[in-house]
Amino acid sequence: MSSRQAIRRLDYTPPSYLIDRVDLTFELSDTHAKVISRLIIKRNIGVSSDTPLVLHGEELTLESIKLDGTPLTSAHYVIDDSTLTIASMPDDGILEITTRLLPAENTSLMGLYQSNGNFFTQCEAEGFRKITYYLDRPDVMAKFTTTIIADKTKFPVLLSNGNRVGSGQLDKNRHWVKWVDPFKKPAYLFALVAGKLVVLAGTHTTPSKRCINIEIYVEPGNLDKCHHALAAAQKAMAWDEERFGLEYDLDTYMIVAVSDFNMGAMENKGLNIFNTKFVLAKPDTATDVDFDGIDSVVAHEYFHNWTGNRVTCRDWFQLSLKEGLTVYRDQEFSSDIGSRAVQRISNVRALRETQFAEDAGPQAHPIRPDEYLEINNFYTWTIYEKGSEVVRMYATLLGTDGFRAGMDLYFKRHDGQAVTCDDFRAAMADANGTNLDQFERWYSQAGTPVLSAKAEYNEAAQTYTLSVTQSCAATPGQAEKLPFHLPFAIGLIDRRGQDLPLQLAGEIAAKGSTRVLEITNTTQTFTFINVPCPPVPSLLRDFSAPVVLDFAYSDDELVFLMANDSDAFARWEAANTFALQLLKNQYAAAGRGETLAAPAAFIAAYQKLLTSDKLDPALVALMLELPRENYLLEQLSDVDPVRLYEVCRALKQQIARELRQELLAVYQRLNDGAPYAYDGEQVARRSLKNICLDYLAELDESMISSLIAKQYQRADNMTDRLAALKALVNRDGGEAQLADFAAQWQSDALVMDKWFTLQATSRRPGALSRVQQLLEHPAFSIKNPNKVRSLITAFCLANPPHFHAADGYGYAFAADHIIALDAINPQIAARLASSFNRWTKVDAGRRELMKQELERIRGTEGLSSDTFEIVTKALG
Ligand SMILES: [Zn+2]
Repeated sequence: MSSRQAIRRLDYTPPSYLIDRVDLTFELSDTHAKVISRLIIKRNIGVSSDTPLVLHGEELTLESIKLDGTPLTSAHYVIDDSTLTIASMPDDGILEITTRLLPAENTSLMGLYQSNGNFFTQCEAEGFRKITYYLDRPDVMAKFTTTIIADKTKFPVLLSNGNRVGSGQLDKNRHWVKWVDPFKKPAYLFALVAGKLVVLAGTHTTPSKRCINIEIYVEPGNLDKCHHALAAAQKAMAWDEERFGLEYDLDTYMIVAVSDFNMGAMENKGLNIFNTKFVLAKPDTATDVDFDGIDSVVAHEYFHNWTGNRVTCRDWFQLSLKEGLTVYRDQEFSSDIGSRAVQRISNVRALRETQFAEDAGPQAHPIRPDEYLEINNFYTWTIYEKGSEVVRMYATLLGTDGFRAGMDLYFKRHDGQAVTCDDFRAAMADANGTNLDQFERWYSQAGTPVLSAKAEYNEAAQTYTLSVTQSCAATPGQAEKLPFHLPFAIGLIDRRGQDLPLQLAGEIAAKGSTRVLEITNTTQTFTFINVPCPPVPSLLRDFSAPVVLDFAYSDDELVFLMANDSDAFARWEAANTFALQLLKNQYAAAGRGETLAAPAAFIAAYQKLLTSDKLDPALVALMLELPRENYLLEQLSDVDPVRLYEVCRALKQQIARELRQELLAVYQRLNDGAPYAYDGEQVARRSLKNICLDYLAELDESMISSLIAKQYQRADNMTDRLAALKALVNRDGGEAQLADFAAQWQSDALVMDKWFTLQATSRRPGALSRVQQLLEHPAFSIKNPNKVRSLITAFCLANPPHFHAADGYGYAFAADHIIALDAINPQIAARLASSFNRWTKVDAGRRELMKQELERIRGTEGLSSDTFEIVTKALG
């Protein structure tokens, strides 16, 4: 099927042919789809007349092809399994191609497919070629017209991109709707939806007084779960107008929810298609985390209308141009509508748990990769999350106004174009009259830089000198790294806990109490003057760059920062560093057969957090959360994940025992029975209450059992109910409550996903056999990505002690399902295969078992290029 030929960034050439207009007609029936595509094609300037036209196409049945009205025969063209080539093309012409598809049999969920009988499309990155023969590359931008014809009873709603310009009746109970998209776009932004759907509608009025219709389409029965998504779309529109001066450009903005979807959501022009997970929510079915996720994904896809659609990518190596920038935009949106501190800490924690591991492993790649076998494998943490950190660094270096000026220039120069990451960087540099040449290394070098800092206080001179050295470990294909250009935000705190005004040597006066130091060299030294006492440094404030900070803080300094740092991120980071260091020591001790208890200072610092009435409860909750096992695993080598889990568990139990009173007091104070509302204050209180419950669940007391059971029974919302159920499952199995929960929610697919995940991630014995039984559960389907993620992927990626069981059964289970899934949906199989990425981190026995399974997967006949690429890189 695949030639396994790597595609390289430096091989880019402009397209030989361009498409001005596309007129598509879809005739949909229960069993198949007929697609008639009329393309107005012209040869690109400067391309010689004997250059053949090569269209992309996969898994298509060609019915006919005409050039300027004349049918072509097989003598005029050549078809193989990925292209259709016409050797002799005029300078311009009209191609009419008719293809036939079988959407009901399309389990890859790329191109046109069916879900619960309705039709949907997914074309990014290269799905359009599974619909018709086309120049399926993002730098070919055309105006699309789409006519859909289908049975009126079975498919009353027919949607595509742009504006609805006509509709009518046909024979045999059929109807048609015609859509025209006035904006040029690449084929990956094409979308079509046909089915039995209901709509929730709202409006938004722009500053230029245009009234935009917002329409959310879902399956009947789900209308009462769309209000949060609608409000999110309205907030996102207002925010983008206010923050970046960007208005929506069509009359209607549509969101359609589908339960079979490979990703989170897709930003097709005017017709976003979403995983139901990021649309459907009401308090009794969705948690606070779900509501927050809907805000952020709705905003993300909406923001793409400018960063991705109006200005798109020249080629797929530039993916981070739209994704890194749009993730940055949605993170800023979430910070503005919620808590900036909580948002930042959560984003950084996710970055470190996922992207740092990717950057340190066999799949490491720069945010603008140099080559790939399968582009679907490059929708990675690096492209999205690190890409967003790189965009954030522009904003930190240039300031809010400088960044806005760069964005304005970017749109002014490139609206309607397909461009590169270099174009974005040039706009930022030119708008600010600054040189960002060295900053390019963030796009070309993989790996997480390490920033080592050393400090010295000179009492006689009243100076504080900070020396900073940067380095970056080798990554596959990149042995040597050059120094990065990065912003290093710092503060100095005096003994009373106050930020000192900061004055660098050579400056006339102090300027602020947080300074952004620009790092460009391997080693740099900064001397602060007029420092009256030895300060405690607060380094990498707000996580100003995606680096690992190496600074030898003492335990006392960490406790001091936990209590005093004015920067919320740095304050959380002190707690995190303290716990991380302790767990590493405890793990090492356990390896020697010893038990190392947490020191009194550690417990006292936690006690102070629990008894403080000044701190934001959400921040306290984040500070109380111990580092997760997968993050710890990255800090160690030759790891026994079972021992690591036992060490984490023991620390949690010690905290629960020694702070029982404080935990219980906070729990009882916050468990006030107020009716549920999704607002910042309540979310913060619930997050702290439920982390207290999570600790208390470690205590083997009947009083605690009844407290958890009471929360489970009385909760008026899913956040509290699920927290209680999790506590029960990890404590004693919670069999009765699990059965009760399933009986209540069996018809709600998204709630059942939570039920699967709770059991897949249970640390109690027998998790794997439970997962194997659940594969047979009527609510599970291996063809549905949400189900695979909630059960199989959750077990492999979020249950380290059971996935890494010493007998290797967890690995064999994962490999069996990667192989089975590869034949159904290669994208989902490849994602699951990434659970083997860090096989060199575990101990020798497990390493050998993981390697055997990787080799077994690689040896599977007919393996997709998606899975082949991941597994081959993992084996190295
Ligand atoms: Zn995106």
